[in-house]
Formats: sequence, structure tokens, C-alpha cells
Amino acid sequence: MSKKSTLLIVDDEVANIEIMNAVLEAQYEICFATSGEEALELARDVLPDLILLDVLMPGMDGYQVCDVLKRDPLLADVPVIFITGLDDQDAEQRGLALGAMDYVTKPIRPVSLRAKVANHIEMKRMRDTLAELAVTDALTGLNNRRKMDDVLRHQVSQLARTRDWLSVVMIDIDFFKLFNDTYGHPEGDRCITMVASALNRAVHRAADVKVRYGGEEFACILPQTDPQGAIQVAHDIKRQVEMLHIPHEKSTVSPYVTVSVGVASALCRPSIRHDEWVRHADRQLYISKQNGRDRISAVSFEPETA
Ligand code: GH3
Ligand code: MG
Ligand code: MG
Repeated sequence: MSKKSTLLIVDDEVANIEIMNAVLEAQYEICFATSGEEALELARDVLPDLILLDVLMPGMDGYQVCDVLKRDPLLADVPVIFITGLDDQDAEQRGLALGAMDYVTKPIRPVSLRAKVANHIEMKRMRDTLAELAVTDALTGLNNRRKMDDVLRHQVSQLARTRDWLSVVMIDIDFFKLFNDTYGHPEGDRCITMVASALNRAVHRAADVKVRYGGEEFACILPQTDPQGAIQVAHDIKRQVEMLHIPHEKSTVSPYVTVSVGVASALCRPSIRHDEWVRHADRQLYISKQNGRDRISAVSFEPETA
């Protein structure tokens, strides 16, 4: 069974929280706050799946809380349902304009509250699944190229703060066109999947990101990894692919499928371009191909300012 979704209930009157808690506690993990300020702090802490938010509260009111939530990249996608005693169209429109998903009015009707919460939780789950699919490669389950750009942008700005290393490794299967011609396209797809599994075995730090970059080309983003570390990972990748022992009789470098690898490493600092790692790693990959394939080339470069 999947884990219970978490709801954050925000109301300045404890009695209201108790009523809603009684309606929802069987299905959900509940946490609550009695002020807007407390709600924001708790939301950042627990990242709830949905927020039930009272409109009228002393201090920060529900509208202000919603406005802050929608500007926070971490919380902007969390659905907000306003709870209000006001049966007032202007109030409703104001909330919806701020990005609220729905309204419930006090006094709380249990059936309606339960249904609304369940609907919005389900829609959130579907949005999350779609967002995940949009950045996943269907054949290998690795990330796709779209994700790579986002991750690089994010990592470069994070690592710039601590002036830390970032390395990118590009991997390309050798003589893959010949492989397809010899064994057929479905075997080619199987080979790509197996190389992806080799990549998963060789690259396993939590912050590492593995990408299917194109047809038979892969990339890994290795945060906090210096040139020596990245070359080590490149060797592991190459060895894991060799250990698959996938026959490739037309290859002129080995009886088995091999890869060529390019590695690029640089120290991050503020306001540098994030797209240079791929360009440099790709250039190293090209050098590996030129020098006979089945090998690793690496560079440590000085990033340009954006
Ligand atoms: P090199 O050693 O220089 O990398 O040569 P190569 O033949 O591997 O490289 P090239 O770029 O000339 O050809 C890549 C081939 O990969 C072309 C295409 O037939 C094949 N390919 C690309 N995507 C897929 C895919 O999703 N599945 C399969 N089976 N083959 C693919
Ligand atoms: Mg190739
Ligand atoms: Mg290629």
C-alpha cells in the first residue's frame, strides 16, 4: 500500500481543526497550524500534499499565505483549498485568482470535504506522474535530455556557492549502427537498455543524475566530483559495460560491445554558463572516437561567464 498523503490544516480556531481532523484522520496524515506564519514554516518542513487554509485569521490571512505559497518554487504545486465562513463570490474569486484550487464553506459538511480533498489529492498525484514521465526516457527509465538541462542549471548555481567541482561524463556506444545492422533493431534496443543498467551500477551517489542523451548516447552529471573522481567513474562505467559481454562481431575494437567516454570537469563559481560542461564533454568524447574508440578522454576547463 502506498504511503498516506499528508494534509496541512490551517485555522486560527482549534475547534475547526478538530472537526476537520475527525473527518479526515482515517485517510490522511494530518498536521495543523493556527496562524499563517506557523503554516508557512510547517509547509516548508513537511511539504504537504494538500493545504486546507482558513481565509480569516488574525495576522497573516489566508490570501496572504496563499500568495507566499504560490511564489515558493518548493510549494507552488501544493493544492490549496480555502475554508471560509463567507459565502461571498468576491472572496471566492480572489482566492481562485491567487491560485487556490477550491473552496469549502463552514459549517463543514463531512461528505463534501472528504470528496474535495480526495479529488485534489488524486489530481495532484496525476500531475506529479505526468511531470515525471515528461522527463523520463521510456526505453531505459533514465532521465531524458530535458531533465539534464534543468539539473545542470540547478547544480551550477548550487555548487557556485561553495565553489565546488561539477563533472559531466558523456558515453557513446561504439559502432552501434553496425550492431543494429548485424543483430536487428530490437536487439539494439536491448543493448541500449543493458548499457543503461551498467550505468546504474557504476554511478550511484544520491546526487548523481543519469541521462539518455540521444539514441545510443548517455550522460552523467556528477556534482561535487573532481577530475580524478570523474575519471574513476568513467572507468567504472566502461568496465561495467565490458562485463555485460554483449557480442558485437563487427566491432573492430573488441568482440563485445564497448563505449567511448568523454569527461569534463570544472570548478563552479557565481554567474558562469551551465551549458559548457556538455560541450566540453562532447568534445572529449569525439577525441576518444578519433583515437580509436573504447577509451576515455578528459578535460578540466575554465568556465566562461554568462
Ligand atoms: P561510433 O562508434 O562512431 O559511435 O559509431 P556508431 O555507429 O555507434 O554511431 P552513429 O552515430 O553513426 O550511429 C548511431 C546509430 O544508433 C544510428 C542508429 O541506427 C542507432 N540508434 C539510435 N537510436 C536508437 C534506438 O533507440 N534503438 C536502436 N536499436 N538503435 C538506435
Ligand atoms: Mg555510437
Ligand atoms: Mg552517437
